[in-house]
Amino acid sequence: MAHIFCIANQKGGVGKTTTSVNLAAGLATLGQRVLLVDLDPQGNATMGSNVDKRTLAHTVYDVLLEQASVAQAKVRADACGYDMLGANRELAGAEVELVDQERRENRLKTALAAVDGDYDFILIDCPPALSLLTLNGLCAAHGVIVPMQCEYFALEGLTDLVNTIKQVHANLNPQLKVIGLLRVMFDPRITLQQQVSDQLKGHFGDKVFNTVIPRNVRLAEAPSYALPGVVFDPSARGSKAYIEFAQEMTERIKTL
Ligand code: ATP
Ligand code: MG
Repeated sequence: MAHIFCIANQKGGVGKTTTSVNLAAGLATLGQRVLLVDLDPQGNATMGSNVDKRTLAHTVYDVLLEQASVAQAKVRADACGYDMLGANRELAGAEVELVDQERRENRLKTALAAVDGDYDFILIDCPPALSLLTLNGLCAAHGVIVPMQCEYFALEGLTDLVNTIKQVHANLNPQLKVIGLLRVMFDPRITLQQQVSDQLKGHFGDKVFNTVIPRNVRLAEAPSYALPGVVFDPSARGSKAYIEFAQEMTERIKTL
């Protein structure tokens, strides 16, 4: 059975997609069978996995509308070593089209159940909103990985996310939990980041992953080559950190 994790944070630009593609590639490097689901109409995880979102025959949109199975819609992200269920702008329409449909928040969960045995990990890159798309991710998942920058407002946003996760846990998906908070784009020279990092550890304890992802320009450059940093430049500091994070994840799942 696959471990299914959402990479979520309703704040924009906090490193969700960077974490999704690099964790997927890192796990693949460790020999894990991975499916990455792009649940964001921006399609950044798709493009960042060397899959052209404009030429896909099927995407996660067709899966949510029950017009294709995951097996039909997934493609191999050859350069990256994992399978990809891609997304493009079409997905923005799903929100409206699903509104009056039955079991609308459980579409992804149902679809993924059919491929559960084919993977060790299924990772879901969520959009920057607590929308019906994100809700589909949260209902399908066993847990949530929350990437965050150690800034003042990050803590405020975290409260909203934790409350949403609690509500989904109580009403829709009793297995859902926060797997951990991942500190990303970290710069230890900035005192405020150290302080917020200490606050996080004080408040959330071992829910804060040990691995810290540094701010690293190679990670930011990699998407322009349509690759995860881990594949584009495995020796970069940021890439090494993501491989270390993949290792930490393989350890953490043993404790779940
Ligand atoms: P959105 O909310 O729009 O989906 P996101 O949360 O997925 O955004 P990313 O796209 O992963 O965030 O990252 C935002 C920007 O920060 C990108 O330009 C990315 O390349 C850059 N970035 C992410 N992580 C790092 C890092 N560790 N070091 C340097 N740049 C980074
Ligand atoms: Mg993103």
